[in-house]
Amino acid sequence: MVDLYVGPYNERLHVHKALLCGNVPYFHSMFNGSADEPKTQVANFPEDDPEAFDLVLRWVYRDSIEPIPSVSNFIRKSPFWKSITFYILAEKLCLPKLQDHIMSNAFAHYRNKDLLPSIHMMDCAYAGTSPKSPLRKFIVREFHWALCRKDSFNVVYDNVDHENGVWSIDNLQSLLVAHPDLQRDLLALLREDVTPRHLEDFTPCDFHCHSKDELCHLC
Ligand SMILES: [Zn+2]
Repeated sequence: MVDLYVGPYNERLHVHKALLCGNVPYFHSMFNGSADEPKTQVANFPEDDPEAFDLVLRWVYRDSIEPIPSVSNFIRKSPFWKSITFYILAEKLCLPKLQDHIMSNAFAHYRNKDLLPSIHMMDCAYAGTSPKSPLRKFIVREFHWALCRKDSFNVVYDNVDHENGVWSIDNLQSLLVAHPDLQRDLLALLREDVTPRHLEDFTPCDFHCHSKDELCHLC
């Protein structure tokens, strides 16, 4: 067994080492290392989200992820209310297949319920991912939609965030100011395709890690 201490309060997660290392190469390197290095059985992740770690471990133990619950049951403790932080952790741990699983679930959730990720989720996504992340490609599309479709504002917001005027120009500007990468991605998107598009025009594969000509393990 190994111990992971996660988050600002050092929540302890006691995990089967073979299962963890067999499914997550990041942990295999960390806990097995090279033959001449002392082997640690403890790792600390003070800046990461314990709930996201819990979701990754559920995937390690069950090899599946649960669907996002319907909006009527959409409470903060449901396993998928933090799909964005779950994705960020999967990307950090270099787990592209898990990233694609999470994206497919999130995509279906947002498309079927006609929702958008909240401003807070967009902020988290840009703060926690790398410049080439498929999650950023998804978020910048949603940002573009939120910017241009003000007639839809009453129905298309993530119900985690109930503030009035959540898609106000002031809020969108604040997000852009906080993330120069988002400014650049939005400009690149507008040069390529000026029409705002919501998820009906896409498939989950448009936001997966695999290349366009690679076979999708989820389709
Ligand atoms: Zn795919």
